[in-house]
Amino acid sequence: MTEAHDEWPWPDAPDPLPSPVVDNHCHLDHRIKGGLLIDVDDALDRAAAVGVTRIVQVGCDIESSQWAVATAQAQPAVVATVALHPNEAPRLAEQGTLEEALTEIDALAQSPDVRAVGETGLDYFRTGVEGRDAQHHSFREHIRMAHRHDRTLVIHDRDAHDDVLRLLDEEGVPPRTVMHCFSGDDDFARECLDRGAYLSFAGTVTFKNAQSLRDALGVTPRDRILVETDAPFLTPMPYRGRPNASFLVPLTVRFMAGIVGISDEELCRDITANTDRAFGGPWAERI
Ligand SMILES: [Zn+2]
Ligand SMILES: [Zn+2]
Repeated sequence: MTEAHDEWPWPDAPDPLPSPVVDNHCHLDHRIKGGLLIDVDDALDRAAAVGVTRIVQVGCDIESSQWAVATAQAQPAVVATVALHPNEAPRLAEQGTLEEALTEIDALAQSPDVRAVGETGLDYFRTGVEGRDAQHHSFREHIRMAHRHDRTLVIHDRDAHDDVLRLLDEEGVPPRTVMHCFSGDDDFARECLDRGAYLSFAGTVTFKNAQSLRDALGVTPRDRILVETDAPFLTPMPYRGRPNASFLVPLTVRFMAGIVGISDEELCRDITANTDRAFGGPWAERI
């Protein structure tokens, strides 16, 4: 994979973390101008150099789910998730190909390199009311897959808190469920925690206008906290607006430790233990 844009102006690497952590939600396959935003080995090396030694690569459609599986097979420090993103479901339904795509994801979910089904869920921000039936159907099918194949469920929830909880309750919450890029307040955090979910915080928690996210983190028990980039999106302060990558996770972790009121090292250890539990056990670190 040598097609990356080497000249991309990445920020300087932050100081290494005192103990390793996992970026549990990343899109290494993101492309600009036909090439990968960052070469996979480069992304993993830069991340490992600051203590982000493992990555969960997330699928959003059939192609990116296949890519995630292939990358996890080639890279011991990477595990894969597979799914149709909630914004993808209405498009496929319109083409009449949603059912066959779900069948394909179900087959991919059985690969040994796949730890989770996701990112699935609901997105009422980018998809209008006309797409909701397809999103609901797709979300339900993904929840069933997580149960069927004993995989973690990774949930994308944008402006759809109530319906996410309702569908989860109706289908049954999988024993390992992650709210990716948690985006609610402390009340919604409690609802998710009551259902046994892990809350994964992204760079958004560092944004000035995100007090409700910090309140949510403040009520999250230490054994349910995860960290992610959602790279190349949601870059933490002070680089908001620029492309994100896993090597910037230390900025988010240090900020979060300040909110939780524990040391960086304690939070790193918590995140590592939580990620292993949330994703069905440890896997190899990038050295
Ligand atoms: Zn998402
Ligand atoms: Zn994502």
